[in-house]
Amino acid sequence: MSSPPDWHLLSVDDVLQATGGSLEGLSQADVTRIRAEIGPNRLPEPQRVSMLLRFAHQFHNILIYTLLAAAGITALLSHYVDTLVILAVVLINAVIGFVQEGKAEQALDAIRHLLAPRAAVIREGARTTVDGEDLVPGDLVLLEAGDKVPADMRLVSAHDLRIQESILTGESIAVDKQEGMITDGASLGDRTNMAFSGTLVVSGQGRGVVVATGATTEIGHISGLIADVQTLTTPLVEQMDRFAKWLTLFIVSVSLVMLGAGSLFSDMGFSALFIAVVAFLVSAIPEGLPAVLTITLAVGVQVMARRKAIVRRLPAIETIGSVSVICTDKTGTLTRNEMSVATVQARYWSYQIADKGYDPSPAPEAFTPAIETEYQQDLTNLALVAALCNDAEVQAQGSTWQVEGDPMEGALKVLAGKIGLDRGELKQDWQRIDAIPFDARHKYMATLVRNGGGVAHILAKGAPEAILDLCQQQSGNGSDEPLDLDYWREQAEQIAAEGQRVLALAWCSADAGKTAIVKEDMQGALVLLGLVGLIDPPRPEAIEAVAECRAAGISIKMITGDHAATASAIASRIGLQYPDAVITGAELEQLSDEELVKRIATTDVFARTTPEHKLRLVTALQSLGQTVAMTGDGVNDAPALKRADVGIAMGLKGSEAAKEASALVLADDNFASIAAAVREGRTVYDNIKKVISWTLPTSAGESATIVLALLLGMSLPITPIQILWVNMITAVTLGIALAFEPTERFTMKRPPRPRDEPILGGELIWHVILVGALFLGGIFGIYLYALDRGYSELLAQAMAMNTLVVMKIFHLFFIRNIYGTSLNWRAVMGTPAVWIAVVVVTMGQFAITYAPFMQAIFATEAIPFIDGVLIVGVGVVLFVLIEMEKQIRLRFFYRQRPQAVARV
Ligand code: ATP
Repeated sequence: MSSPPDWHLLSVDDVLQATGGSLEGLSQADVTRIRAEIGPNRLPEPQRVSMLLRFAHQFHNILIYTLLAAAGITALLSHYVDTLVILAVVLINAVIGFVQEGKAEQALDAIRHLLAPRAAVIREGARTTVDGEDLVPGDLVLLEAGDKVPADMRLVSAHDLRIQESILTGESIAVDKQEGMITDGASLGDRTNMAFSGTLVVSGQGRGVVVATGATTEIGHISGLIADVQTLTTPLVEQMDRFAKWLTLFIVSVSLVMLGAGSLFSDMGFSALFIAVVAFLVSAIPEGLPAVLTITLAVGVQVMARRKAIVRRLPAIETIGSVSVICTDKTGTLTRNEMSVATVQARYWSYQIADKGYDPSPAPEAFTPAIETEYQQDLTNLALVAALCNDAEVQAQGSTWQVEGDPMEGALKVLAGKIGLDRGELKQDWQRIDAIPFDARHKYMATLVRNGGGVAHILAKGAPEAILDLCQQQSGNGSDEPLDLDYWREQAEQIAAEGQRVLALAWCSADAGKTAIVKEDMQGALVLLGLVGLIDPPRPEAIEAVAECRAAGISIKMITGDHAATASAIASRIGLQYPDAVITGAELEQLSDEELVKRIATTDVFARTTPEHKLRLVTALQSLGQTVAMTGDGVNDAPALKRADVGIAMGLKGSEAAKEASALVLADDNFASIAAAVREGRTVYDNIKKVISWTLPTSAGESATIVLALLLGMSLPITPIQILWVNMITAVTLGIALAFEPTERFTMKRPPRPRDEPILGGELIWHVILVGALFLGGIFGIYLYALDRGYSELLAQAMAMNTLVVMKIFHLFFIRNIYGTSLNWRAVMGTPAVWIAVVVVTMGQFAITYAPFMQAIFATEAIPFIDGVLIVGVGVVLFVLIEMEKQIRLRFFYRQRPQAVARV
């Protein structure tokens, strides 16, 4: 194949010849053969960091350096067992970090795969949608507004096609494209008959023959751009990382002071003192924290993906949990986007049509009343517009029928079939010469068609007001008569009030030689044929999800391009709070920003809006302090999606442009998945909070025990090596279990959390002090009790160490429910992760306490049964005390707390 720069200088025929393509599309056999030869249409993967390097990276952190230094010094002091345990702690931490990081990366990889773009192509004469990766040179690809061009292609046709090529040229103004030959075009930006992989279609439609795929495309030549790798972090986790670093520095400084003061003022030998300080270090530094937070995020990303919400930008996983308003599209999100025509209304007759799926066979029996012969011609004219001002196709797939393209247009094709038009004949008889594609701004679509006999028509369909604006006449049983505007408006209102989407259909004849159409050709010339009403039932799961969101203190705003009456009828079926309060796009434009802010609180439906209005709505809501999630699908939705706190794109019907501007993508376009994402976002945030609330007080309690013992000049209740052991075994079990916590029961009954709520706030500090003090009391209490009973120091230490572990376990069960009671059947049953963790820790503790060889290493003694019960009793007391404190706090404190965010 010749080098890419030549393609733009060739004629379409030459390009087709060179690539082996045709205007009928490639055959499946050709595609398979070429693909086997040249490989998938994929850019080379960015170089991965090698496993070894990734493992080595686990050791690159200030805590590990500190620990390694400590291990070195203990070895020099001949405390080899301590050295080994410290090295084991370091190694186990590194292995866990390594494995979990690998899993997290896999999770992100899987998600990247889910977001792989699709492309509309013509193959074997029919339109179909394939994975972008499956494209081969010679494929005929259809482009429309919002698409990301999937490969380099030479354009075969272009209607108003404008493409933004800044990714290649740096130029942000979109370029007008056309299919004609050009004789020059040295720079990429001048090659107006080409569309390049990775660029964005801003408006219009086009077709092109693929000339280069994968690494041979222009974008493939620019390496570096490809490395779009996400790191698994969010603002909150970064904040915690920074906090952990400062804390480590602080703890190291305290250790140095302890070491200095201890050598000067205590009579402990340096080596014993040093080991004690190391124990303090290890117990105080929350070494597991960063890894567990990463795991929590990775688990969240996976759960969301399973619930069809794909996280494109990780911070969104945090923000979505604090959303207080969701602005959502209607069609396909709240409704099923399975359309069928229910009403056909002309000037002198009207039919109701029974739904029989997408079967486009003639079905006169579906019409009520029965079709009268005198109306048949009018109905056929209307069917011609429905079928030919249309980009969708209805295809048989086994015994069922499926729509390829817009479901609404599919429904119109089906209507034409039911009326009696034959799809095959239509294709043969009529040729499309030109088209004005549908655009949410002008709200209509028009085509110029011509048949073999030289008869040409302009056919148009669109929102009633848009089409009525272009008509001066209406069809009155075969003859044209002046337009009765009031009549049509009233009919449109009536159909819409039933929740049906209304379209007006019109036509006019055109010169046989006409090759292009513009709006002016239709202005005043169109003859209105009639209205159709389409039903699109609400999704039952969306109704439930709306109720769930409202219970969770989240307002729902429906922002739709549809008619006000249709939107309002659907809004009341879906269960919005103010279904009858509607602001239309036209009204919105009249409102000042202040007026809008005032009215937005009591308005839930925004109808006949354009994407530009979405931006104003987001801004108005944000000015009220709301955290806004906004859905979108079109190319023009991108600014609003970017501006929203969480932009959510539709995975199925959404354009690539919308997906790129969004933080979340819904794999099933379903509103229920947004509610699920909010729920999961709240869960992830809670779990992060739980991990932190469990780790910090435990570290504080452990380290305080050592400091106090040193200050009091007494022997340590738990030996340094035992502390190291406890930290090692609990960090890999109990710590991680919290990352897998399921959603708490009343998660979606709480109001949204204020976005600026600090995680390291007063509540957490109080919890650290309280629990730290209780740990201190518990450990010292048991230690002193044992000594008092005349037990050996080794036994007293073994009991103190086991008390520490038991308290950690009970604290874990407490932390699992920060918003409710921890003592209920669900909470006690816990999750498998929690129980596995508890079993592993318990086995470890039995081993260290009772197994002779472990006793020898860790200097422990077997604990009598009755004292074992006492130790568990200390855990129970801790649990009861902190649970009581929580209940008091929840009851008296939260009740007085103002609603997190004012409802809008
Ligand atoms: P929602 O915002 O609820 O998802 P929508 O995005 O489908 O609705 P638009 O696509 O902006 O809304 O459509 C607005 C109006 O334009 C529709 O009510 C309909 O009357 C008209 N319309 C939609 N699609 C077409 C089309 N393909 N051809 C002609 N008119 C259309």
